[in-house]
Amino acid sequence: MIRQYDYDNMPIVEIVNDMIIDAARRKASDIHFDQTPTDLMVRIRIDGELVMYAQVPAAVKKNLITRIKIIAGMNITESRLPQDGAIRSNVDGLNLDLRVSSLPTVYGEKVVIRILDYSMSLQGLETLGFSSKNYEKVQRIIKKPNGIVMVTGATGTGKSTTVYTMLQILNTTARNVITVEDPVEMKLAGVNQVQTMSEIGLTFASALRSILRQDPDVIMIGEIRDNETARIAVRASITGHLVLSTIHTNNSLNTIERLVDMDVERYLLGSALEGIISQRLCKKLCPKCRSSRKATPYEQAVFKSALHMDVTDLYTPVGCSECYNGYKGRVALHEVLVINQDIRDAVVNNMRKEDLRHLIYDNEDMTSILQDGLLKVMEGLTSFEEVLRVIDVDDDLGENDSELKDAIIGKRRNLTSSDNEEVQDEITNDSQNVETSEVETEEKKPETLSDPTFPEPPENQVSEMEMLDI
Ligand SMILES: [Zn+2]
Repeated sequence: MIRQYDYDNMPIVEIVNDMIIDAARRKASDIHFDQTPTDLMVRIRIDGELVMYAQVPAAVKKNLITRIKIIAGMNITESRLPQDGAIRSNVDGLNLDLRVSSLPTVYGEKVVIRILDYSMSLQGLETLGFSSKNYEKVQRIIKKPNGIVMVTGATGTGKSTTVYTMLQILNTTARNVITVEDPVEMKLAGVNQVQTMSEIGLTFASALRSILRQDPDVIMIGEIRDNETARIAVRASITGHLVLSTIHTNNSLNTIERLVDMDVERYLLGSALEGIISQRLCKKLCPKCRSSRKATPYEQAVFKSALHMDVTDLYTPVGCSECYNGYKGRVALHEVLVINQDIRDAVVNNMRKEDLRHLIYDNEDMTSILQDGLLKVMEGLTSFEEVLRVIDVDDDLGENDSELKDAIIGKRRNLTSSDNEEVQDEITNDSQNVETSEVETEEKKPETLSDPTFPEPPENQVSEMEMLDI
């Protein structure tokens, strides 16, 4: 259902307020206002996927964009340069922090509103979806007095929530906790948070140098983006500080590789690194309507290969009035690596990547992202299709995992093909086209983008339409 507004009669102020409040109530993470040659297309991102939301006619679109820029404190006379702004508001008892950015496109200004909702991080480590084994490992990692702990994952995988939750545990009167962030995503009482301002020279690296003179116990670096920050972070962590940070990588193995690529000296990294928590988000199966079905031979092969388990039945999405196509909310998949002496030695001695992979993953204590995902499929938390969607065949599987790669690639082909069983049999024997199947998976996205249906929001509604009217 596309949301309809009476654009001729409804004040633009009310339309903008309603869109923002309604999107937040639907737990959307972003609202996109896309310029087209004729009108303005509005989409919202729910559980990681963009869905159509509204179509704003050409006569109104300029006013609508202007209204958003006004409440976000942006310069409305400038439309040729990108701008950033922010809106703070309280919706449904949730403190929402809205980040607004504009980008001049050939058809006009595209605006994206990011809705930051940090209510999750206040609920403690046990609510973040760690398996009991990973939960115990994370607890071990944050008890370290010094060293560096990395939380990794792509944008929008919930890294900030995990880091803030860990900070809350570490935030006691006995510790001086200082962060340097861009942006400061959530304010924590008792934590000294620094917002970088590169335009006046307050970069991650320069802020870190000052923080080290402030007698810190715990330092959180919002994200390691450059070599200088990476080097200072690692040096800080070997001089008696616990450093938490995030980095944009896929898994434990790639995180080590990336830090080495960022000119961090191997001997320092080997002694500084204490743990790596990698995560991705899958859509969560709606517990109200999920049903059970027989596992296909492909699925059985993947389970057998990844977990050495014989699985005959799986949960599958159905769809009901309370969810979106059988899914509701998201669940994190994790990979938690506690660094041991063998891994330290391997990092220092520049071990070959595939050998390091064996050292990390061929260990009873280790659950890979794929394994954690498949275990969550067995619990009925998410679907097999969702886990496959977030797995990177090239990055997450080693050169010796060809059997597993084949099983996954075969399944992906199957998912993206409308063909029948006979075709599936052919695909089983075709293990070459990793790239082709990746592309096909990518191409599937527009179908979901154009799906105009999404569920009605829950009952608890917001009546204060004027709250954004500032
Ligand atoms: Zn449902």
